[in-house]
Amino acid sequence: MDQAERQQAYVRILTRLARSSFRSRFHLSLRERQYICDKGWDTIRSHAADFVRLRLAPAAPPQDGKQTPMRGHPVFVAQHATALCCRGCMEKWHHIPAGRALTPGEQRAAVGLLLYWLRREMGLPAESAGRQAK
Ligand SMILES: [Zn+2]
Repeated sequence: MDQAERQQAYVRILTRLARSSFRSRFHLSLRERQYICDKGWDTIRSHAADFVRLRLAPAAPPQDGKQTPMRGHPVFVAQHATALCCRGCMEKWHHIPAGRALTPGEQRAAVGLLLYWLRREMGLPAESAGRQAK
């Protein structure tokens, strides 16, 4: 998948998610926006990668369904907005079966979608979503 195809995939899933009033409710607070500005995109990306690897990627994540707080970190908000909050939601929305570990490719795609949503939420151009922009 090249960059353009990946972006099309993100747009497709975000279009489906936009029809969910629950998912559409999630937006960054001022405080969470400030956190992104303070930390920079490299750090936000590495936090997103950690959350995906530790909280979603295992075949049976600890406390699955409750592992993602509703606020407190911009990536948590992005996870709820994009249905990357738990394996149940990932199965329902992203058709990734629960009960098995995520592949490295699936983890990268999840991080990419989280960053794509965050940059869009921050009003930044979509084409730089995959880059390590500061
Ligand atoms: Zn969930």
